[in-house]
Amino acid sequence: MNTLPFSYFNGRVAPSVEAKVSIASNSLQYGTTCFAGIKGHFRDGSIRIFRLEDHYHRLMNASKIMDMGFSISYEEFKAIFEELVNKNNPQTDVYFRPFLFSQDEKLAPKPQGLTFELAVYVVAMDSYFSKPGGMRLMVSSWRKFCDAALPTKAKAGGCYVNSFLATAEAMRSGYDEALLMDQHGYIVEASVANLLISYRNRILSPEIGAAQLEGITMRTAIEFLKEEGIPVYFEKIDRSMIYTSDEIILTGTAAQFAYADSVDGRKIGRQQPEGSFFQGPICKLLRDKFHAVIAKQHPKSESWITEFCSGGKKI
Ligand code: PMP
Repeated sequence: MNTLPFSYFNGRVAPSVEAKVSIASNSLQYGTTCFAGIKGHFRDGSIRIFRLEDHYHRLMNASKIMDMGFSISYEEFKAIFEELVNKNNPQTDVYFRPFLFSQDEKLAPKPQGLTFELAVYVVAMDSYFSKPGGMRLMVSSWRKFCDAALPTKAKAGGCYVNSFLATAEAMRSGYDEALLMDQHGYIVEASVANLLISYRNRILSPEIGAAQLEGITMRTAIEFLKEEGIPVYFEKIDRSMIYTSDEIILTGTAAQFAYADSVDGRKIGRQQPEGSFFQGPICKLLRDKFHAVIAKQHPKSESWITEFCSGGKKI
């Protein structure tokens, strides 16, 4: 992993090599963290951060769900990103990882006596799923946890053991990524991405209340489709629907808009010659609109992009 030289740690931007925690810290032992993943696109010498304020709000809501008692204003949060872009002077796309955690050395998985703070590191990242074509997905034998057991709407570190197990199984079995079913056998999301399918001429996604994260990229996709007059229906999606859908799209900050070529070995979409990939029309539309947003050629560009010049020069 290519971590950039400066991170935000202990209340200031400092060399990443100095950002160290104790092996006995509560957050390391129990995954008592919550985090965000935010993409910065390098264009014309600056970093264009996508939907920073929406990520900030979701992180603050995660802190509330986890009862961490942490808060920071949006202005202060944004200023940290500006300083990180200034100091790191990135020349590629980047991924920001802000997270709330406790450095306190406490043996018990209890919140008493823990203080939570913010840290942010930055990595150089192009695309998360580095595949030229479509993805080969597997329906995992691991189920997605339900919100009655662990919070599905907070990106809480410990919850990602579930994603870890599902991707480990998928990759060991020769697939690229896992789809997870909930306790009732409905497909709810992938390990780090939400799900959109084209099925019988309608676009479907699992309901908001399903055991999935409320993805900011999915919200973006819904708005893009609305612009074209295409409604998204929020319904239960079972395994047979997945196999027989015309298009499967995974949405996420890291995944952006990735399409599936097959699920459990069943080819998705129209019959393709052996070895070729089928990027369906919905995925293409979403990717084109997303690129227009980042290129500042979309009506939403202004409200969705926060731009800082790499190295701190004026934009
Ligand atoms: N589901 C999970 C479990 C995730 O970790 C992510 C990545 N944050 C997503 C969905 C997609 O969310 P977003 O579009 O906000 O990145």
